[in-house]
Amino acid sequence: LEKKIAILEGRMPQKYPEVKFLGYKERRRILVTGGAGFVGSHLVDILMMKGHEVIVVDNFFTGRKRNVEHWFGHRNFEMIHHDIVNPLYVEADEIYHLASPASPPHYMQNPVKTIKTNTLGTINMLGLARRVGARILIASTSEVYGDPLVHPQPESYWGHVNPIGPRACYDEGKRVAETLAYSYAKQEKVDVRVARIFNTYGPRMHVSDGRVVSNFIMQALQNLTITVYGNGKQTRSFCYVSDLVDGLLGLMASSYTLPVNIGNPVEHTIEEFAMIIKNLVPGCRSTVATGAAVEDDPQRRRPDIAVAEAHLHWKPKVSLQEGLQRTIDYFKEELSRTTLYNNQTY
Ligand code: NAD
Ligand code: UDP
Ligand code: UDP
Repeated sequence: LEKKIAILEGRMPQKYPEVKFLGYKERRRILVTGGAGFVGSHLVDILMMKGHEVIVVDNFFTGRKRNVEHWFGHRNFEMIHHDIVNPLYVEADEIYHLASPASPPHYMQNPVKTIKTNTLGTINMLGLARRVGARILIASTSEVYGDPLVHPQPESYWGHVNPIGPRACYDEGKRVAETLAYSYAKQEKVDVRVARIFNTYGPRMHVSDGRVVSNFIMQALQNLTITVYGNGKQTRSFCYVSDLVDGLLGLMASSYTLPVNIGNPVEHTIEEFAMIIKNLVPGCRSTVATGAAVEDDPQRRRPDIAVAEAHLHWKPKVSLQEGLQRTIDYFKEELSRTTLYNNQTY
């Protein structure tokens, strides 16, 4: 507290991560919707460290101020508490449009809000991009492929989505977001980029995020049963968050305008994944239990990243082992905070 008061009173300089100095001509004003979320906050860090001005817009539905609080007060940083379902008038040179819940339990908890965010919210951001002439990158998802009948999934695959199932609010919401992007590109000449993001993990995922990586790590760290939904034969391919952020930056900078898969093609069954995590937590006494299957759970998912390799010269660098180790270390810290703050996670 002493230190904080000293900073506020200006007796001590506020310490920020190191920021490069950019001249007026190179510095861009970049809007990041959903910038207080898991992926958004990592993207914000890189953009800030590169020396750009960053405006974060977030309604804190699934994100937290804590993810970006290390930038509060920095002259290049601005945070706006706003729901993008409502119009937003700011100036920007580039927009990364990431605002949307991403974890199945989160988006299923409020399906109407999820659709509104991905449709009305995306219209507003495209309208903003149109008004200010900004390039806009839409965060789409591998879920546009649904429960895929083609494996691995190339961008040319149209998908296999149940339009009225429990995941539809997200899958169809993102499909409409893509359609909106290309309609604005065609009709209004908006400069769009579309990233189809595959399962991503890393530090700053919320302990109660509900996605498989955070669930399994939290269970393994507490010696609780690792809960595999269904028989565990379904597969996913996991990308470490820094690799994803590199891919998003590469796509924004590239002249390629069609959708691009960004993900790590190393594929595992969920059962294997449970064992990998268990073995990475020293002394873990958790057992792995299979349970009821989730409705409409995609059975296989793995990105074909030939387009990203050819057009962005991008491929993931961080191995699953290394990425998981960093994520486990993060969740260990989170667990100790939880105990510290009277079992409240915040
Ligand atoms: P997240 O839930 O951590 O972050 C989403 C952020 O958007 C949160 O900060 C949330 O508060 C904000 N938000 C939600 N609705 C909003 C609204 N109406 N107005 C303003 N802000 C709003 O999720 P994430 O994992 O960081 O995902 C970021 C983006 O990437 C999402 O668009 C998601 O669909 C996409 N994506 C993520 C993954 C992944 O594995 N993480 C995979 C595919 C796609
Ligand atoms: N919009 C916004 N910010 C802007 C410009 C537009 O939020 O800076 C919203 C606007 O309210 C509208 C939507 O984006 O609902 C789509 O904008 P567009 O210009 O395509 O449509 P119009 O204004 O003609 O309805
Ligand atoms: N899953 C699981 N146990 C959990 C959470 C998820 O077995 O505690 C499974 C889920 O059924 C799916 C996979 O892990 O097959 C990935 O789920 P997640 O919610 O992380 O993301 P999805 O890829 O389904 O959007």
